[in-house]
Amino acid sequence: MTYQHSYAQSIADPAAFWAEQAESLAWYRKPSLTLQDNPDGTHRWFADGRLNSCYLALDRQIELGRGEQLALIYDSPVTGVQQAFTYHQLRDEVARLAGLLRQLGVGKGDGVIIYMPMVPQAAMAMLACARIGAVHSVVFGGFAANELALRIDDARPTLLLTASCGLEFDRVIEYKPLVDRALQVARHQPRNVLVLQRPQARAQLQAGRDLDWQQALASAEPVAPVELDAGDPLYIMYTSGTTGKPKGIVRENGGNAVALCYAMRHIYGMQAGDVWWGISDVGWVVGHSLIVYGPLMSGCTTVLYEGKPIRTPDASAYWRVVEQYQVSALFCAPTAMRAIRKEDPDGERIRKHDLSSLRQLFLAGEKLDSSTHEWLERVTGKPVHDHWWQTETGWPVTAPCVGLEGSAARPGSSNRAVPGYHVRVLDDDGHLLGPDQQGSIVIALPLPPGCSQTLWGDHERYLQAYLQTYPGYYHTGDGGYLDEDGFVYIMGRTDDVINVSGHRLSTGEMEDLVARHPAVAECAVIGVHDEIKGQVPLALVVLKDGEGIAEAQLLVELVGSVREEIGALACFNQVRLVKRLPKTRSGKILRAVLRKIADGQAYVPPSTLDDPAVLGEIEAVLADLPRAG
Ligand code: AMP
Repeated sequence: MTYQHSYAQSIADPAAFWAEQAESLAWYRKPSLTLQDNPDGTHRWFADGRLNSCYLALDRQIELGRGEQLALIYDSPVTGVQQAFTYHQLRDEVARLAGLLRQLGVGKGDGVIIYMPMVPQAAMAMLACARIGAVHSVVFGGFAANELALRIDDARPTLLLTASCGLEFDRVIEYKPLVDRALQVARHQPRNVLVLQRPQARAQLQAGRDLDWQQALASAEPVAPVELDAGDPLYIMYTSGTTGKPKGIVRENGGNAVALCYAMRHIYGMQAGDVWWGISDVGWVVGHSLIVYGPLMSGCTTVLYEGKPIRTPDASAYWRVVEQYQVSALFCAPTAMRAIRKEDPDGERIRKHDLSSLRQLFLAGEKLDSSTHEWLERVTGKPVHDHWWQTETGWPVTAPCVGLEGSAARPGSSNRAVPGYHVRVLDDDGHLLGPDQQGSIVIALPLPPGCSQTLWGDHERYLQAYLQTYPGYYHTGDGGYLDEDGFVYIMGRTDDVINVSGHRLSTGEMEDLVARHPAVAECAVIGVHDEIKGQVPLALVVLKDGEGIAEAQLLVELVGSVREEIGALACFNQVRLVKRLPKTRSGKILRAVLRKIADGQAYVPPSTLDDPAVLGEIEAVLADLPRAG
């Protein structure tokens, strides 16, 4: 099957294309309805199909004869533990944990929050929820208590699963005090908190509410997977929007299974038995699609790595893992490769490892800069591919489809649209733009299976955020262009979302926090270039009249509050004082102009600008910022 043929068919007749892909799945009831239009512009995939994602990921693989094949390899340089689970072993662990969840009153459709480090039990917890039809929401362990509380109040979980601690290369981060604090702040309370005690820290358990994971599990009985509708939610994944309130992206069981099996085979070129390494965290969408569901539903062996690219113990960590487990292909964010390059610019550590098993490397989460791209290809000697996706889509929108013939890759671009995605570029008025013309990147409806069709408990917000800006199209929030051969170039977000080390964060949320400081009159937070992290936030602050606080002191206080409220992952550590901010005559801060000045890009002062003199002042304050190369 060629890329060209698949792509043309997927756009001309999406229902026929995806009905064929769905054939390969072991449904309890095969869908007879493939695609239905809803009046509000959203779509339903496989409406009358019935399946179970955990069954497909585990039991089905055993039925296909993979029971003794390794399903999951846990490699934890921070604890020194290496552990492997066959499909049989993983299924048995998950079935028992699912039994415990049910014993604790968790049923179909109930929310379960998972706030855990990168341990096998985190993946088991996700699969256990899927087995009984509960809806999991994994919250990244780097988020502070307040962020966890926001998600608890939105997801309204029956149960919260956590561990006593997570581990960095140099310290133990206790999770339980964060959970306790979040539950003090949250209005909603889960009935129980299940705590995995790790030897590096012991958590205090609150009688009546908290339970010891291992003890509780000892008396649990395994349970079988339940039949679910294709449209039943598998999970909620919160992601930053442009406001402080995170968006609960909802992923459905049916579309997700069809899309991920397609992606693993045709985009990533994976076959059953291959070893796949999704280098990410279960707290992000990549962790869901490329650590847990995608590889397991495809019969691969998945690697779950609790470590860093450097310092655990050094910049050869990734290459050691590739060699040790014979990894066939991997996914990684560019920021990790930049960190490795900084420590091993000539690839000396790479050459010490046998990478012969590795066929290719896929990078996403932020733009892959050409310098890192060229370096990585040179030092590994392997094809390196940029590809682009979002939490909302759950699987790649553009990518080289290495499992399809005739699929070319083009360095510098995040490659062509994957079958199923009709990617277009529009100007501000919604007119289609031609090759090489830059505008808003959109996807013509219907979105393919797997893409989110709603936000948890707030369908209106989904419609407003994604479908109403350009009727008939899904609005990605990214700007860029297509070249004449259809290769896509992503230039960055067109909204107030920034990407720090591949983590998506809302500048609006940080602005709210900065503005709460008693000395601050007003502020704007923008993303500025960072050599390793891609972007980091910078706050431009106007002080209240008569305020004498020094910039250094203000910085300490603001850094403290962003750490406390959002978490260290925000990497918020730059504040600049300015006399005023550029605004429209109606008083709106012109953040797009600020971003251009910070990036050293040419810009045209908007006609709505109140006082053009302010731009010179801002340029002077931001003149020393590092620029993208
Ligand atoms: P997230 O939902 O956290 O995965 O973030 C998605 C956003 O990350 C996209 O909307 C893009 O702005 C950015 N992104 C992801 N992959 C790429 C890529 N390959 N090139 C450029 N930007 C990317």
